[in-house]
Amino acid sequence: MTNYFIELSYLAASLLFIYGLRSLTHPDTARRGMHAAEVGMLLAVIGTLLHREIVRYDWIIAGLLLGGTIGGVLAQKVPMTALPQLTAISHAFGAFAAALVGIVEYHKHGTIGTFTVTALGFEVLLGALTTTGSVIAWAKLQDLLPGAPMTFKGQRPFNFALITALLALFILLMVNPGAGWAFHLMLALAFLFGVMLVLPIGTADMAVVMALLNSYAGLAASAMGFAIGNNVLIIAGTLNGFSGFILSVAMCKAMNRSITNVLFGAFGSASSGEAHAETGVMREVDLDDTATQLAYARQVVFVPGYGMATAQAQHVVRELAETLEQRGVTVKFAVHPVAGRMPGHMNVLLAEANVPYSQLYELEQINPDMPNTDVCVVIGANDVVNPDARDNPQSPIAGMPIIEVDKSKSVIVLKRGKGRGFSGIENPLFFKPNTGMLYGDAKESLARLVSAVREA
Ligand code: NAP
Repeated sequence: MTNYFIELSYLAASLLFIYGLRSLTHPDTARRGMHAAEVGMLLAVIGTLLHREIVRYDWIIAGLLLGGTIGGVLAQKVPMTALPQLTAISHAFGAFAAALVGIVEYHKHGTIGTFTVTALGFEVLLGALTTTGSVIAWAKLQDLLPGAPMTFKGQRPFNFALITALLALFILLMVNPGAGWAFHLMLALAFLFGVMLVLPIGTADMAVVMALLNSYAGLAASAMGFAIGNNVLIIAGTLNGFSGFILSVAMCKAMNRSITNVLFGAFGSASSGEAHAETGVMREVDLDDTATQLAYARQVVFVPGYGMATAQAQHVVRELAETLEQRGVTVKFAVHPVAGRMPGHMNVLLAEANVPYSQLYELEQINPDMPNTDVCVVIGANDVVNPDARDNPQSPIAGMPIIEVDKSKSVIVLKRGKGRGFSGIENPLFFKPNTGMLYGDAKESLARLVSAVREA
């Protein structure tokens, strides 16, 4: 009877995970999908706790309390802008857990078959490299390590030798599952490989790397499911593995990079292209003039970027949008897939501020509408509106699709000063005759614009 309940809870959990993932494909249903997946996870945990093989609960309860407390505190305390680091370190914990289970399982079995050792091999290999890779990603994002690609002479041959050794040891284990020394050596080399894999990747590409590490952690969990005969782990791990991979490919596409270039290209190094050298002047605009322009426009497009996240300006943007709409202005939001610092960053913030989904436009939808737009308000975005990506083949971000705000009649850029974007390069948009710079913290500028538009 208990076994029946466990399998039923696993089945329900798996269905809820699939439904949750499917719901994430649209902002309208994303929140509901997340809640469904949370219920699924709760069911999977309850089902697992009923397992007959559990002989005592004290350690499990202690772990649940400790992990739950750390997770709860982090979720409350970590600011939105530090979410990428939090995600990286969470992957490290998850992958380390998978590697530890693999090690215990290997030692638990007296004699071990080829199938089990293959599953365990995958589990510890992917688990170990994801652990150290995620720790390095976290350290880079947290500025504990340099964000630029860290390379040394002979790095590629060294990494190639490491991969070859890992594969050789894996094959040896499949042939001779009892070779404990090979298992432990493979484990140690996999930990080292995680470090070597992420060190040469710059922070600009870290989001792609994390999606990929997330995928590896999922595949490690799936292998663990095969090793210990747990269906929900197999299903959830596979979903995680493939969705993580699809996400990394989608992000590469949004940045016009290939996945091999991200992993092995050492993007962001001094040799990776020439940015546009700008000598013109940036035209500063007056707040009241901007308010008048906005108030009498037919169509205004807001383009949020990382600066909106740091300023936490999403609520006041919505307020300005509503104020303009009350005056009969058509308002749209252009959302670039890699604006901010994590996938869906802008969507999450705008949803939090209750901006209607019908006002959100992807770049393919909004770009043709740019010539009909009277004013584009760029809120703390930089790289995603940099025309150099389109016009200068030598630029380090050449080929990255952009929101073509420069094709609108007038552009107002809200930023604090002359700070560069994530790529660290100059943006010729700021020097164009139809661009005006409104300096200041985005939240403060927008709040003042709301009052000024009401009075215009
Ligand atoms: P960005 O290029 O990083 O530019 C952000 C701009 O915001 C800066 O130029 C900064 O200028 C301004 N800013 C910062 N704080 C502000 C504040 N409080 N008020 C007003 N302005 C403020 O941002 P983006 O255009 O969103 O581009 C994202 C970049 O991150 C891309 O290069 C992308 O490839 C990369 N990336 C994205 C992801 C992802 O998954 N979304 C992950 C990793 C990396 P000032 O200092 O002058 O104010």
